[in-house]
Amino acid sequence: MKKNIFQYSILIGIMLILSSMRILNVKNEDPKLSLDDKSLVKIIKTESEWKKLLSPNQFYILRKKGTEAPFQNAYYNNHEKGNYFCAGCHLPLFSSKTKFESGTGWPSFYAPLDKKNVSESVDNSHGMVRGEITCTRCGGHLGHVFNDGPNPTGLRYCMNSAALIFQKNK
Ligand SMILES: [Zn+2]
Repeated sequence: MKKNIFQYSILIGIMLILSSMRILNVKNEDPKLSLDDKSLVKIIKTESEWKKLLSPNQFYILRKKGTEAPFQNAYYNNHEKGNYFCAGCHLPLFSSKTKFESGTGWPSFYAPLDKKNVSESVDNSHGMVRGEITCTRCGGHLGHVFNDGPNPTGLRYCMNSAALIFQKNK
């Protein structure tokens, strides 16, 4: 009998170790970010599905067209070389090569990695006429585009950091 209890406790111990390893793995797992992820097949999810996938801030920006505070976001002052992916569906959107110092307090780019990956529509909210930029694949709100950007495009893609995930070049 004693031997059985001993065997059981070892078994339970091993199971506990394995399950905690699994939890750690999931938490540390980086989202799969790849420049080769080019599919533009639409990703459609319900509001509650998005809520489970995104942080409250990501949900507010991407799914509720929110805007984060300037100068208090992850990437406005990020000068690392790498790429920016959609925080909702991980579609590659922008490169550090087209990022510039706009002084606005939001990450700003003069062009997307691929024009097809972002969609533009007219946004008349807040008494302004602006070009709203969404992710072509998941429809997530990313920010706005303005005509006061630098050469060579003259465009300023003013993005929310929370709508993006940055991956540093390896
Ligand atoms: Zn997306």
